[in-house]
Amino acid sequence: MGIEKTYIMLKPDCVKRGLMGEVISRIERKGYKIVDAKMMNLDEAILKEHYAHLADKPFFPEIVSFMTSGPVLGMIVEGENAVQGMRIIMGVTKFEEATAGTIRGDFAHSTSENLIHGSDSLENAEIEIKRFFG
Ligand code: GDP
Ligand code: MG
Repeated sequence: MGIEKTYIMLKPDCVKRGLMGEVISRIERKGYKIVDAKMMNLDEAILKEHYAHLADKPFFPEIVSFMTSGPVLGMIVEGENAVQGMRIIMGVTKFEEATAGTIRGDFAHSTSENLIHGSDSLENAEIEIKRFFG
């Protein structure tokens, strides 16, 4: 706990569906601050790093083709307990299990295309912020 920074990324489906404003509004209404943000086009190399824990899954090529299908918005989000707090407002990975009231629960209709990434631990948040913001 305490003031934390986490890495949040609005995925290509979120950008294409015009849901960036909705999602950013939820982050701000929760009380978190967006301390840096940039639009990016990801390539396979950075996705192999970022999703290294999934590299041998059968759906990995699908993740790469989805995540390179358009721009993403990378953000550093700061606030009290922000790492775990963002995971709560995002909702769980599997869209069919994501609770109403969460970003994924309210807007995702696929597990690959689930709108948003958020770091899953403080340690990974630091690594991911370095990876995408240097
Ligand atoms: P997250 O931390 O909740 O995003 O979940 P993970 O780190 O486990 O997975 C990263 C991303 O890979 C997810 O957000 C999904 O976009 C995708 N993914 C994870 N599991 C599956 C799966 O079983 N099937 C498919 N198609 N995509 C998945
Ligand atoms: Mg993850």
